[in-house]
Amino acid sequence: MSEHDPAAFGRGNPREEQPDGGEWFTHGDPATGERGLRFSCTMCGNCCSGPEGYVLVSELECGALAARLGLEVAEFVDRYTHVTAHGRSLNEKITPSGHDCVFLDRERVPGKAVCGVYEDRPTQCRTWPFWPSVLRDRHTWERSKRICPGIGKGTLIPVSEVRVRRDTFRI
Ligand code: SF4
Ligand code: SF4
Repeated sequence: MSEHDPAAFGRGNPREEQPDGGEWFTHGDPATGERGLRFSCTMCGNCCSGPEGYVLVSELECGALAARLGLEVAEFVDRYTHVTAHGRSLNEKITPSGHDCVFLDRERVPGKAVCGVYEDRPTQCRTWPFWPSVLRDRHTWERSKRICPGIGKGTLIPVSEVRVRRDTFRI
């Protein structure tokens, strides 16, 4: 998941100002009453592309990705990453769809855009769309459907798991 501008997702009350601590997703869906959030990736690739952004990658994650690609860590870092104001990021490549993550593969599955390093993708990618900036309130969650068609559909993620993913990566 490439992050472009976390603040762009956010609107409404800051989490700490909400009486429920921002955990609106524990209340139950207004239409169905179910607690938790639905999400299933459709492999559209939107979250790995778009305007210029960043995909933060830790030293440990660089090590795993380097091993996956059969590279020395230093070589991987030099070839596939760069430093941003937020930390080290995976590189992007300019395509007709926008700034694709360097590992986004639009060829392997016809009509889909898939992660070429899926099992070793960074935490930023693993935790999308359960980022604090997206979960700030119901509006930010609903608004993120504009870029992610998997939000609100498919598998019901229980409240406990939503919390774990939200608290894994601060973005
Ligand atoms: S590493 Fe994979 S999941 Fe993460 S932004 Fe790149 S292509 Fe997408
Ligand atoms: S459905 Fe959402 S998570 Fe899956 S690739 Fe599209 S934008 Fe990303």
